[in-house]
Amino acid sequence: MDIAALFKISHGVYLTGAREENGRLVGSCIDAVMVVEADPYQIAVSLSKKSWTCQTLLKTKMFTLSVLPEDASFDLIRRFGFVSSQHENKWDNTPHEIKNGLPFLKNAVACLIAQTNKITETSNHFIFLCDVRDVWAGTMNPPLTYADYQQKTKQQERKKTMTEKKWVCTICGYVYDGDVPFEQLPDDWVCPVCGEPKSVFVQE
Ligand code: FE
Repeated sequence: MDIAALFKISHGVYLTGAREENGRLVGSCIDAVMVVEADPYQIAVSLSKKSWTCQTLLKTKMFTLSVLPEDASFDLIRRFGFVSSQHENKWDNTPHEIKNGLPFLKNAVACLIAQTNKITETSNHFIFLCDVRDVWAGTMNPPLTYADYQQKTKQQERKKTMTEKKWVCTICGYVYDGDVPFEQLPDDWVCPVCGEPKSVFVQE
């Protein structure tokens, strides 16, 4: 199986915006959205079961979807896609507006408000079938496609590996490659190969 071939089945990239029952705003970056019915308009949205926003939507059912523009920054995608809403108030540092109590991106290409009417599941995802309660156009920019996003991510990764120094275990030579910056690892973190503490790592 050549999994990269799946990246060529292109679609858009979107932010979800939801509100927890306690009022806190949450959201995530997703790519799996389809308009599945036109009379009345319905969409299907797939979210990882591990996603905090997904767990919120199981309870609250209502959310916004913001269509990202072609020039969406990698930082925005990273903030919403690579970090959990459980620990971070993602909307705080993101230009947004509120409609029906729900956050949506200010410079989105288009936005809609979805209300879940049915939930089905695969092994790792919940698929929300939703009525489109409201939809409006935003900026005139072309939407970001999933293919462009893949390209963008890879460029950023390449940039990162070229400019960033590596943390190396002085005992076994293991090179740290986790998603969390090395400096932010907890103090009791140990080398996954030799079990020595963080303090034996040096930057090279
Ligand atoms: Fe080690």
